[in-house]
Amino acid sequence: MAKSKYEYVRKFEQNDQCLLNCWIVIRIDGRNFHRFSDAHNFEKPNDQRALQLMNKCAESVMKEFTDVVIAYGQSDEFSLVFKRSTSQFGRRASKLVTNVVSLFSSSYVFYWGHFFTYQELLYPPMFDGRVVLYPTEKNLRDYLSWRQADCHINNLYNTCFWCLVQQAGLTSNQAEDRLNGTVSSDKNEILFSEFNINYNNLPQMYRKGSVLIWEKMSDPSDSSQVNNFQKTRRQVALHHTDIIGDTFWNEHGDILDS
Ligand code: ATP
Ligand code: ATP
Ligand code: MG
Ligand code: MG
Ligand code: MG
Ligand code: MG
Ligand code: MG
Repeated sequence: MAKSKYEYVRKFEQNDQCLLNCWIVIRIDGRNFHRFSDAHNFEKPNDQRALQLMNKCAESVMKEFTDVVIAYGQSDEFSLVFKRSTSQFGRRASKLVTNVVSLFSSSYVFYWGHFFTYQELLYPPMFDGRVVLYPTEKNLRDYLSWRQADCHINNLYNTCFWCLVQQAGLTSNQAEDRLNGTVSSDKNEILFSEFNINYNNLPQMYRKGSVLIWEKMSDPSDSSQVNNFQKTRRQVALHHTDIIGDTFWNEHGDILDS
């Protein structure tokens, strides 16, 4: 097709190709989910349905963008990590972040009813997104550790806060005052002595967040065996496990190699 005289305007577009050889992390976060969770009657401090819906959305993104090697989620946020060598969208930051955010958001609406059977979706949810590049394995692992530590700190605080409000009848301000200046061990002690809760026995999904990775699974739909080799298929697997220590990474060495 002949070029129009207007074509030159393309030259105004910024090149936003991500630096080569870096992991590309896209973190999305729900906009004003404090309000969204109230409006939709989320159970506090952890609505299981909402967390499962978030996991489903991240799985949809991974299935569409298969260069995502690991995703970590907690609360209203998810971090999706593209492999170092990805050439998806020519590594263009705006393409990557807008496609991930829009598929995540549309999946949130699309799958809402699967998880919230009796709660109508009252208005369209929004997510923001940002791109961060990590050049070394240590940087990337520290990033994921940072998010998981954040999950733990918030969850311990929120669990105490909501016990004080829901069970002890404190107002929000009173509960805040009570927790002001407390350290982890104080909060564990409040839960144990006043509410008979052993924090370590709460569901792993609440304490550790959600980790999605690709795992090879034998394909049950394929019964043919060629040279004793059963066909395997990559599937997204969900874990609620520690990703700060070395154990997880030793067991899944291929995540960062690939
Ligand atoms: P911003 O637009 O700045 O992100 P926000 O209100 O979304 O504002 P966040 O720091 O992202 O603030 O916190 C998300 C809030 O959403 C939490 O404080 C919590 O109240 C609520 N929330 C998210 N997920 C859940 C869940 N699964 N169960 C209960 N509440 C949740
Ligand atoms: P990309 O992911 O690169 O954007 P694309 O398939 O979306 O790929 P576009 O250049 O954006 O390519 O073109 C959009 C295409 O969508 C059109 O070529 C047309 O086939 C189809 N399309 C969009 N809107 C309409 C419409 N209102 N009616 C019919 N077809 C449409
Ligand atoms: Mg925020
Ligand atoms: Mg938010
Ligand atoms: Mg958040
Ligand atoms: Mg196009
Ligand atoms: Mg298009």
